Amino acid sequence: MTKTRKPLQKYRRVVIKIGSALLVDRATGLKKAWLDAMCADIAALRSKGIDVLVVSSGAIALGRTVLKLPPGALKLEESQAAAAVGQIALARAWSESLSTDAIVAGQVLLTLGDTEERRRYLNARATINQLLKLGAVPIINENDTVATTEIRYGDNDRLAARVATMVGADLLVLLSDIDGLYTAPPHLDPDARFLDTIAEITPEIEAMAGGAASELSRGGMRTKIDAGKIATTAGCAMIIASGKPDHPLAAIENGARSSWFAPSGSPVTARKTWIAGQLLPAGTLSIDAGAEDALRSGKSLLPAGVREVKGTFSRGDTIAILGAAGREIARGLAGYDADEARQIAGKKSAEIAAILGYAGRAAMVHRDDLVMTGKRADEKDGRRDEVHA
Ligand code: GLU
Repeated sequence: MTKTRKPLQKYRRVVIKIGSALLVDRATGLKKAWLDAMCADIAALRSKGIDVLVVSSGAIALGRTVLKLPPGALKLEESQAAAAVGQIALARAWSESLSTDAIVAGQVLLTLGDTEERRRYLNARATINQLLKLGAVPIINENDTVATTEIRYGDNDRLAARVATMVGADLLVLLSDIDGLYTAPPHLDPDARFLDTIAEITPEIEAMAGGAASELSRGGMRTKIDAGKIATTAGCAMIIASGKPDHPLAAIENGARSSWFAPSGSPVTARKTWIAGQLLPAGTLSIDAGAEDALRSGKSLLPAGVREVKGTFSRGDTIAILGAAGREIARGLAGYDADEARQIAGKKSAEIAAILGYAGRAAMVHRDDLVMTGKRADEKDGRRDEVHA
């Protein structure tokens, strides 16, 4: 079993969620010194080659300070207006602070549909991956200005967990004013015990999460445990730690109290298990021997190698891939809708734009979205038969 606590530099891609109370003071607004120290921690991680994504709360808290709204609960329209005002200031603050470490920030505002509907999920994921590829740090928040009660996360704990699974992160760090998980609310129960590692989120662990949240933020321990379930089942470890000290990531490295949740499996395995486990693929692609070889050597499926497209599917649906011998060899997420796939099957990637009228993706199924499910026709029990010429 993998050791639950590892130095942060052992991770490859880290999502850091920052609670409103850390960034915003009701009376004085943005906590600039704290943000600068946080950005220095982010720069330190990045200098070790780790991809960093930030899910930053604070838009509503900052906006209500700027607009001088009275304390207490806000109506939906008021929090939407507060978010509109606060998000500009928040994004600017991140951008300015990160730029002192020569890091470029990119603002990404998501709604529930962007992480839950497959097509939008793929689009959001592609944009975030592109930002990372270009060396920028995505600064993500829920698009509170347009999110309504029915279609919103409402808390950034679960949003951050969905982002972590979306980009295949291997670590999610939830920073807030809570330093971790206790067996009972510590301010109410003197016997409450701190839990520093959680191997699995059992019903007992879930029962320990009360409903309490701090005044500035929406997330309490409940949403943090929900986030833990989303992250760990997708193979992503999670840490709950206090963000109160300056340099909170350095503090975690130096052994500050924090609760670590062990992942089940690796992000890649979890994702591929999910793809392979889809019961009813929405369609099939029959491919030629050259494409089959390419897939077996870990490459993406290009339109040129596709001989036939069957079924009705949309981009993002799971489809089965049939090898040259007509048997299923792989499953993957379609990069194109079925009718588009039919039009570009057998065509070179350079011809796609002229056929579809827009420059689509080069791959019919990207290798990150592909899992091999069947052996080669001439393979038995995982061993390839010798071929005599
Ligand atoms: N998206 C909200 C904001 O930026 C924060 C939600 C939360 O507190 O988790 O104000």
